[in-house]
Amino acid sequence: MFQKILIANRSEVAVRIARACAEMGIKSVAVYSDPDRHALHVKKADEAYHLGPDPVGGYLNVHRLVDLAVSAGCQALHPGYGFLSENPLLAEVCQRRGITFIGPDAESIRSMGNKIVARRTMQAAGIPVVPGADDPVPDADSAAATATRVGYPVMLKATAGGGGRGIRRCETEADLRGAWDRVVSEAGKAFGVADVYVEKCIDRPRHIEVQILADQEGNYVHLFERDCSIQRRHQKLVEIAPSPQLSEVQRTTVCELAIQAARAANYYNAGTVEFLLSQEGEFYFMEMNTRLQVEHTVTEQITGIDIVQEQIRVAAGEPLSFRQADVRRRGYAIQFRINAEDPANDFLPSHGRITRYYSAGGPGVRTDAAIYTGYEFPPYYDSLCAKLTVWALSWDQVLARGQRALNDFGVYGVRTTIPYYLQILQAPEFRNGRFDTGFVEDHPELTQYTLARSRVQLAAAVAAALAAYHRL
Ligand code: ADP
Ligand code: ADP
Ligand code: MG
Repeated sequence: MFQKILIANRSEVAVRIARACAEMGIKSVAVYSDPDRHALHVKKADEAYHLGPDPVGGYLNVHRLVDLAVSAGCQALHPGYGFLSENPLLAEVCQRRGITFIGPDAESIRSMGNKIVARRTMQAAGIPVVPGADDPVPDADSAAATATRVGYPVMLKATAGGGGRGIRRCETEADLRGAWDRVVSEAGKAFGVADVYVEKCIDRPRHIEVQILADQEGNYVHLFERDCSIQRRHQKLVEIAPSPQLSEVQRTTVCELAIQAARAANYYNAGTVEFLLSQEGEFYFMEMNTRLQVEHTVTEQITGIDIVQEQIRVAAGEPLSFRQADVRRRGYAIQFRINAEDPANDFLPSHGRITRYYSAGGPGVRTDAAIYTGYEFPPYYDSLCAKLTVWALSWDQVLARGQRALNDFGVYGVRTTIPYYLQILQAPEFRNGRFDTGFVEDHPELTQYTLARSRVQLAAAVAAALAAYHRL
């Protein structure tokens, strides 16, 4: 087993990996940019190395990170999610320098990172994919031809897209032609590859994804599904395991499809196979993410399996510590991504000093945070400041626990999405477990939680008035 691992990431995921290392008796090494000098991940790791002044550049510098891993005496590198986690070059450079990359091999990352190649691989394996183009489309004319074949509305998607970006819904041919140049140029700028393809837009789908794990001896297991239909602009906000919307038959179907997909990709380590579930009850393969996922926590809560520790074991060449028949699920888990954003103001990012912070606690509550009281939340990165995961035996209990824990959670100094999640928990569709990816857009009123916020605002106004009176 490894003695020391370099964590090539920051924030809550770096903390998460450091925790797995600590429990396995492995030393962890953090890296940090100038603005991250006082970040939590630096405090939680056993050693930390400065990457330089650039807020982002250091975390994206493949050779510098691998050099650091070598010079710090690490045997392995964990890429986390985001940043270089789906960059095949990092996996290759690690291998060349004798550092084990904690993830699949470069070839799987490369092929699954290209959504067109992934679609072809899955089609060849007999897995249903969303109807659409089998190749990147070269120009607006061929895009329009594919769109006519599959029928509008369609999605224009960047083959290298991720993080919910590079996706554009087109209702009509005029729409598609109007959007074409911009989508292509944005794909080139954001992902370095201007390739775009056309996919049929599934009407009001549910986003259902399956966590899989595989070792280098060819053992494949799934850890059941997650429902990530609560999204804003194609980015997940709330994730649930298992999905309250699936029958047992559907669950078995989608989990088996995911194992088939992982085998088709010759995959090992942890991965996620994402599907859309149509209103008609059909599953369509959408993409495969070749890394740890932000929402892995809900799967850990229902199965009791530590996914990060399994990633490390598998990377070290050990077999998975369990078989499919050993995997049991129990109850429901919900993760809320607590973002430093103001939902009442179009989710405007909010940064600055965290003047006070209390994490939620009590039964069935898990917090994966990147903040602490006095921390200066930086503006340079994405706005995730903590993940709150609640677990309970039944759906009704997990709803109640979510509400209690969100009320328990205190983040002051920046605005967060907590009050918005309290509204979602009240929405009848959510409570009844009947929601699709249109939920957030369909309920703009949930962002206008004047009542939920007024207690705090009123207290602030009264305090300000008293202070003004005393000064007079
Ligand atoms: P998940 O399903 O784990 O939430 P996401 O696709 O939302 O996965 O990505 C996880 C993190 O990685 C997010 O912080 C997202 O902003 C970032 N990310 C994902 N893909 C890219 C990309 N191609 N470029 C930049 N950031 C990305
Ligand atoms: P990313 O790599 O950014 O995660 P995905 O391909 O996983 O991109 O799509 C992100 C989200 O966009 C999905 O969860 C879904 O809500 C929506 N989406 C993507 N493709 C389609 C489609 N063909 N029809 C309907 N919704 C889609
Ligand atoms: Mg996705």
